[in-house]
Amino acid sequence: MAKQTTDIIEKSLHNLLNDPNFLPELKDDARDKAIHSLITILSTPNHIHKSYLRIARENGVIERIPAFRMQHNDTLGPYKGGIRFHESVNEAEVINLAALMTLKNALHEVPFGGGKGGVAINPREYSTKELYQICTKYVQYFNEILGPDKDIPAPDVGTSAREMDWMMSEYKSIHYGKPYLGSFTGKSVLNGGSLGRKEATGKGVYFTLRYLLHDYLQENHQQLAQSQTQQAAVALGCQNRPITLAVQGFGNVGSVTATEAYHCQYINNTIVAVSDRNVTLYNPDGLDVPALAKYAAANRGDLPFTKEQNVEAGIRAEILDREAVLYLDVDVLILAALEDQIRVDNVERVKSPIIVEGANAPIAGEADDTLAAKGTLVIPDILANAGGVIVSYFEWLQGRETQYYSESEVFEQLHCKMGKTMNKVYPLYFSSNKSLRQACFDHAIMRISTILYAQGKLF
Ligand code: GLU
Repeated sequence: MAKQTTDIIEKSLHNLLNDPNFLPELKDDARDKAIHSLITILSTPNHIHKSYLRIARENGVIERIPAFRMQHNDTLGPYKGGIRFHESVNEAEVINLAALMTLKNALHEVPFGGGKGGVAINPREYSTKELYQICTKYVQYFNEILGPDKDIPAPDVGTSAREMDWMMSEYKSIHYGKPYLGSFTGKSVLNGGSLGRKEATGKGVYFTLRYLLHDYLQENHQQLAQSQTQQAAVALGCQNRPITLAVQGFGNVGSVTATEAYHCQYINNTIVAVSDRNVTLYNPDGLDVPALAKYAAANRGDLPFTKEQNVEAGIRAEILDREAVLYLDVDVLILAALEDQIRVDNVERVKSPIIVEGANAPIAGEADDTLAAKGTLVIPDILANAGGVIVSYFEWLQGRETQYYSESEVFEQLHCKMGKTMNKVYPLYFSSNKSLRQACFDHAIMRISTILYAQGKLF
């Protein structure tokens, strides 16, 4: 597991040691031992599943592709988390992402544990038939550990409803006659998916920012104005004035987040930059995000990256390199691409006082400390990007009842659940000098730990 995650877990447990609400029945030595056990339990995954998928390429060549399913912790319910298809997938990364799922679900009181899957391929290099083969093989290899009450995958980087439909169908064939709708979430609506699931992560990412700057800070203005924390001042400074935003990544998360920001009626946002794997597009007067989303949808998800393509898309923007998005002088930077985008070697160049993590783990450990020391307010992944798994939970429930919610019901419930979490962690953050990430970890770990104790797992 990444040292960064283990370090924050340890810090949370040390914070909880001195919290009178944390396992009050445990005293002195028993308390120390429980903390030690919790560090051990949460720093290691319950199960590591690894295989090589044997795939016959269309050109007749056989490939053996590394594939993983990591099950970190199931204290709160069946393992839950996406499957990513990306060439950088490796064992350590998937374990870390599984741990983040455990914490994300605990933080938002979603009744699932944490898991994650990965296949080490660049999906752009495989035909539809080959991808279908990879999906069905994945389910065949891991079918015994998956299931609606065991471990429920969902889309992640490089996968979408299409892959979940294929996988669910394979699961259904293998487990003929058994419930199967809840075996995978993020399916197409046609195949039992939930309305709003596709947009849920991006909607949730923007909602955490809007809720902070508009709803929460406006309500708590008086009290926060007296707060000494630099972060409070930063956030307060952004209130009631136009906000500039830059969005890294224009996939399913980044494009929806940017679109939400563009249409927001509560905050006067100007989206000055968006980026993807090829380019950063920059316009200090604001980009036409709907036109960009339309262009990307028609062009395999890519933003226009030449002058001609920008003209064709009707976009007026400066064309910068893809990393430039990180270093712009904007109020808010939204990281919706991949992990490790802000590291020790580039953190000093990052200027935005507020960063929102749409992707999982986009800020590497030491860089995170530097940002915290600078007073940058980071809305962390486990808080900001939980919209996906929350609506996955709604999908799983709807599949059980074969009763479906309307899109507006889904978004209303999503906002309600995320709002409830933010009402717990924002006050924790503004009343202490810990980072918002630490406040979220503390809250999630308090929940897992007390449940583990009540289940008799700590002695
Ligand atoms: N892959 C998404 C995440 O990292 C969604 C997981 C899910 O819906 O289970 O949160």
